[in-house]
Amino acid sequence: MLSITPISAFNDNYIWHLEKSGQHWVVDPGDSTPVENALQGAPLSGILITHHHFDHTGGIERLCRQYQCPVYGPSTIAGVTHPIADGDSLQILGMPLKVYAVPGHTLDHLALIFNEITSDDSEQLHLFCGDTLFSAGCGRLFEGSPEQMYHSLQKLSELPPSTLVYPAHEYTLANLKFAQAVEPQNTAIDTRISQCEKLREDNRPTLPSTIALEQNTNPFLRCGYTEVRQAAVAHAKLEPLDSGDKVSVFAGLRGWKDGF
Ligand SMILES: [Zn+2]
Repeated sequence: MLSITPISAFNDNYIWHLEKSGQHWVVDPGDSTPVENALQGAPLSGILITHHHFDHTGGIERLCRQYQCPVYGPSTIAGVTHPIADGDSLQILGMPLKVYAVPGHTLDHLALIFNEITSDDSEQLHLFCGDTLFSAGCGRLFEGSPEQMYHSLQKLSELPPSTLVYPAHEYTLANLKFAQAVEPQNTAIDTRISQCEKLREDNRPTLPSTIALEQNTNPFLRCGYTEVRQAAVAHAKLEPLDSGDKVSVFAGLRGWKDGF
């Protein structure tokens, strides 16, 4: 039985903790202390890394010293013992793990997709997407182009709708406020805001999300919709002629959100 729980770190980071048959792995340990606390004396079996930013990697050195565990991630990162790249297929925690390159937020960014066979013999995908896909939003473009990020998000949005989505930050409510500004008529966004407000009042995470939920509420996955295009033209100084081009709509939305 696989269990996946968030470990809170810094202001709003989640270090995802996977446990199966007594084996423990973490994704993006920006800090070691909260991980050690969550393990409650159990050994750490391994670490997965999505990209090089310090709030995702800062705990690697200390955790490795303490647990001598392998670190899978982009080859550019100090401390990675098992470099992984686009198209790789691995077995971790007894499950197939697929690696996608998703450049945009950073150039080295990877998405990690576990395929769990559940007790009723069906497949459940679990997507660890770091700072690329957020619930109702996406990461800032620090290194990549809008075109790269658009295609990275497209690739993730083509995963099965039931795929569970585990981003690395609790940004959902702020992102939904922007989503509502883009699409004031989209009632799925209103519903999700009410649900997430309740969760946050109880200090509970709004994650994981699903690909289906993101397809319905995340403006960055909805660049082909008329309302989203029109909002991008109206608010993002986009030339109406460019509005037929989804990458231009995406770039317009991303620029608008940066100043929102
Ligand atoms: Zn980042």
